[in-house]
This record gives sequence, structure tokens and C-alpha cells, in this order.
Amino acid sequence: MKYLVTGGAGFIGSHLVERLLGDDHTVTVLDNFSSGRIENLDQVKGNPRLLIRHVDVAHYEEIKPFFEGVDWVFHLAALADIVPSIRRPLIYHKSNVDGTIAVLEAARSAGVKRLVYAASSSCYGVTDKFPTPETAPIKPMYPYALTKYLGEQYVLHWNKTYRLPCVSLRLFNVYGPRARTSSTYGAVFGVFLAQKLAGKPFTVVGDGTQTRDFTFVTDVVDAFLRAADSEIESEIFNVGSGNTYSINYLVSLLGGDVVHIPKRPGEPDCTFADICKISQTLGWQPKVRFEEGVRLMFQNIDRWRDAPVWDEKSIAEATIDWFKHLGASPS
Ligand code: UDP
Repeated sequence: MKYLVTGGAGFIGSHLVERLLGDDHTVTVLDNFSSGRIENLDQVKGNPRLLIRHVDVAHYEEIKPFFEGVDWVFHLAALADIVPSIRRPLIYHKSNVDGTIAVLEAARSAGVKRLVYAASSSCYGVTDKFPTPETAPIKPMYPYALTKYLGEQYVLHWNKTYRLPCVSLRLFNVYGPRARTSSTYGAVFGVFLAQKLAGKPFTVVGDGTQTRDFTFVTDVVDAFLRAADSEIESEIFNVGSGNTYSINYLVSLLGGDVVHIPKRPGEPDCTFADICKISQTLGWQPKVRFEEGVRLMFQNIDRWRDAPVWDEKSIAEATIDWFKHLGASPS
């Protein structure tokens, strides 16, 4: 089979590429390397069944030829992170919405058999329904969440209008080796592991009792394959761990001192996916326990040696726009 993975040099994308190549398939990676890193594909470097193309998915004419003869498309390319999306909403729209339409069009014109979209659980915003089912109200709290949700709407629309077989997976707090680290303040694992290596205290938001549905990356890869390898289409599925874990528990597993930083506006106290639908429809179940996932991250801690080490002051500076804009907005 021939597969195409957009964002294949990113954190989740690179794990998916590794898995597809391991299963003896041919894989084309499209990545603009804005946050994706070629080192993420080190383990598959030189594989004759892997083609890596440095292109931006928003450039339809450039990406179109790579879809010819492709069986399945996995669309993971996107700009992530909250603060830069508040600062630069136009480029988020360009990447996450225009980029998705370009991928859908290229997939449609090439007649690909299936497309799986990486959507985000951030579309639920601050909800009060736990575990949260796919039918929960949509309340994006910042441009990143909105653009990922709009991308999902386009995916479903291409299915309805053009019969392109599509599935959308709403991912909850994915973590694992190679979790992206860049100069941007973002996902908690990158922040905490760099602090751990530097012997600095963990910057715990609020009192640390807030919980997240941390989902291990190889389980997420399994969900992508299940979704692609099925007859189901035009469906949305939550992908979560089946549980929710407090930041204080994560700190206890990592071990170290803490400092507390203010709670950010629009931040949920809990994320917790209802995964009944994907379990019942696709037979998918998460396999990696949180404690085991954290241990595997620890084994890879060296990857954070060159990562930025955040502290109270630098986080306060990095999140100014978060407080400024979201602090004032109605919930
Ligand atoms: N978090 C934290 N300290 C940090 C960064 C994050 O305690 O320096 C917490 C944050 O409050 C949230 C969890 O870690 O409860 C996950 O945060 P992340 O930004 O990774 O994901 P999101 O909040 O978007 O779910």
C-alpha cells in the first residue's frame, strides 16, 4: 500500500511513519519543517520506501502531484500551540484551514481511498461533561482550537459533497518520546522534562489538581490505523487514554521541587475523553498505562538537553497575550 502522511516529521506523524514503514508500506512525508524535525525520522532514514518532501500543505499546486497513486492519506500537518495562535491568527488559518482544504482537494482529485484527519480535543473548550463524548458542545477558546475545528468541518464536508471517505480523530493530550520541543512555551511534558534535566523546579499551574487525559503516542498511531483500515466514514472519534491524571501525580512520578504559577484563562480543570464510540465502532483500546508512558519518556529524556528551560518569569512573559486576550473574553 502507498500512504501519505502530512506533518510526517512532527511528533505524532513520525511515529506513524515509522509504524507504516515497519509494516512494509511505502510512505510519502509532506512537511514544511516549521516545527517538524528531520531528526524525528532518524530511525527510518535511508529507507528506500520513504520519500520526504519539504513542502507546505497550503500550497495546493505543489502538493498535488504527491497524491497520485496514494491509497490512504493521514493529515497531521498543522501549526500547534495556543499563544502563537493568539498572536498570529492569520498564519494559523492558512496552515490549519487552507492547508486542510488543499490536502482534501489533492486527495479528492487523486481519488485516494481514505483520509484520516488529526483533530483536537481543544474544540470542547471548558466543558462540564466528563468523560466528554463527541456530542458535547463545541466551544473553541483560542484560534488554534478554532482552526483545527474548522479543518474538521471541511473534512466532513468533503465527505458529504464529494464522497471522499474521511474520518476525524479528536486527540487528547498526546505525549511520548519525541514530543515536540521548540522555542515556544507549550505542552507540559516538554516543559517539565527540560526543567528536570536542568535541576529546576516544575512550574505547576494553579494547585496542580487539574487533570489531563494523557494519551500515549503509540496508542494514537493505532487509532489512526484502525480508522484508516475500516469501512466507517464521515465519523468523529475521541482518542483518549480512558482516564485522567492530575499534574500533581505527574510531578510525583517525575520527582522534584515545584513552584506554582497562575492558572491561565480559558484553561479546563479536566480533560477526559469518552472513548466508548471508538472502542465499540473500531475496536480500539489504549494499551499504554500512564506510569509506563512516563517511564518511556524518561528513557528519552536526553532529547530535552537542548530544549528551553522555562521558569516563572519567562513563562509570565511568554503568556502575556494569553492573559491579555483570553482573560478579558466571556467564557
Ligand atoms: N501545566 C503546568 N505547568 C506548565 C505547563 C502546563 O502545570 O508549565 C499543566 C496545565 O495546567 C495543564 C497540563 O499541564 O493542566 C497540560 O498542559 P498542556 O499545555 O500540555 O495542554 P493543555 O492545557 O492544552 O491540555
